[in-house]
Amino acid sequence: MLDPAGKIVVLGSINMDIVVGCTHLPGRGETIIADSSAEVSGGKGANQAVAAARLGADVAFIGSVGSDAFGETLLGNLKRENIDVSHVSRRAKCASGLAVVAVEDSGENSIMVVPGANGTLTAKEVSASADLIRASRTLLLQLEVPLKTVIAAIRIAHESDTRIILNPAPAPDPFPLELLDVDLICPNQSEAALILGHKVESVDTARHAVSELTRLGARNAAITLGAQGAVVGNGSSVEWIEPFAVTPIDTTAAGDAFAAALAVNWDAQTDLSDAARFACAAGAIAATRRGAQPGMPTREEVAGLVQN
Ligand code: ADP
Repeated sequence: MLDPAGKIVVLGSINMDIVVGCTHLPGRGETIIADSSAEVSGGKGANQAVAAARLGADVAFIGSVGSDAFGETLLGNLKRENIDVSHVSRRAKCASGLAVVAVEDSGENSIMVVPGANGTLTAKEVSASADLIRASRTLLLQLEVPLKTVIAAIRIAHESDTRIILNPAPAPDPFPLELLDVDLICPNQSEAALILGHKVESVDTARHAVSELTRLGARNAAITLGAQGAVVGNGSSVEWIEPFAVTPIDTTAAGDAFAAALAVNWDAQTDLSDAARFACAAGAIAATRRGAQPGMPTREEVAGLVQN
């Protein structure tokens, strides 16, 4: 029997996002004077860990930051959210993961991501954290660290009752089938399309795609459809979870909030569809707030929206 109060271990990326606001994005060879800059903690792994902790879970992180000042700041931010960082290594002579995000007034952006320390996380280090993975209720994964490392973590989790949830973002092409050997895969529309090789746009195509993902090996699948909600299911039943009506401001972290909320709420006692309803509410609230980590909702806020 799984322990519903058990720990969630997140294995993934930790980035510093340098966000620059400008009237127009610079063209090739162009220098512009921009309007503002901000350092914002990011990385899908860290975003999802913060979301899970705000939703009330006991969260531990497996990852890597650099030996630079950003590494110190990023670790401090995770600790302030009550996340156990004892399995996060500080890589000597290596920069922390960095994203340079330029956002123009129209909302259009262009982003450069340097994996830095995230790209150096090895399967061997994951083996050193095997006891933590095996003792956790849920392992939550994304794909901003090397695929070999993610696959090593999946194999370790299979040695125990640990549930494996994979948010396959960014989705590699081709998509290794080993990544489908999980209890739940939760892609958005474009990731599902890349994995399956065809468009996934409507609720009907998503229903079909959930069945396909489970035929390919995932025990369950949840496809997020932005303002159209999500479609979840397994080999025997597929269900559309209607969206919560909100006015979106910044949808960047909606998928991270959704994946984290599923990890927190989906356990042996909770149906996937009930957990997905909660996750859609978490995604909807995140979409109404600016910034990834600052906008992650608390358990009370999500419960309030679900009950309305
Ligand atoms: P991603 O950020 O990975 O592209 P989505 O945009 O599909 O993920 O959002 C994840 C979930 O958040 C959706 O399934 C939905 O429940 C919720 N959500 C996102 N955008 C909106 C929106 N505009 N209105 C209502 N719910 C939303």
